[in-house]
Amino acid sequence: VHAVLTSTEATELVRAAYGDLLERIAYPYLPDTAETARRAADAWTELTSGYTAEPELTTFPANGYDEIVVVSGIPFYSLCEHHLLPFHGHAHIAYLPGDRILGLSKFARLVDMFARRLQVQERLTHQVASQLQHVLEPRAVGVVMQAEHLCMAMRGVCVPGTRTTTSVMLGRFRDSTAARAEVLGLLGVNA
Ligand SMILES: [Zn+2]
Repeated sequence: VHAVLTSTEATELVRAAYGDLLERIAYPYLPDTAETARRAADAWTELTSGYTAEPELTTFPANGYDEIVVVSGIPFYSLCEHHLLPFHGHAHIAYLPGDRILGLSKFARLVDMFARRLQVQERLTHQVASQLQHVLEPRAVGVVMQAEHLCMAMRGVCVPGTRTTTSVMLGRFRDSTAARAEVLGLLGVNA
């Protein structure tokens, strides 16, 4: 259904839905629910824009460079698909190049694209690793993500400060215990 809507039509539907929601919970406490609904719809559209965005992942010849490349501490913000509440933290990526390498800024773009969807952290981690595997065909790729989930901090069990770590290892990082331990060390994660 969503595919046939223009982005303006989709945002308008979201705005109307926020309007209904605000009428139920905020009226008459908020003076201007219409403006709030509009701003919330704009924010929602931005935070879920990763379904349509296609980052251009330009690759370059590795020219014989065959050591591990590590990009760590990439911040990300996503929404959990169970509660629609944010989870946020950092992604750490390592790969062992094959014939191609990727521009360093593209790692952050890739993480951002998949984070701007309704997610579970496990799938988000997997999607980043799979996409790198697909685009670069490296000899190995490893992705570790660490995040705090506000659905755990603000509601339910209410335990702020808890960090969830997920990791996906492909190729040699998966097959070799030594390579896996080395990469987890480089990514600052204890094996
Ligand atoms: Zn949740």
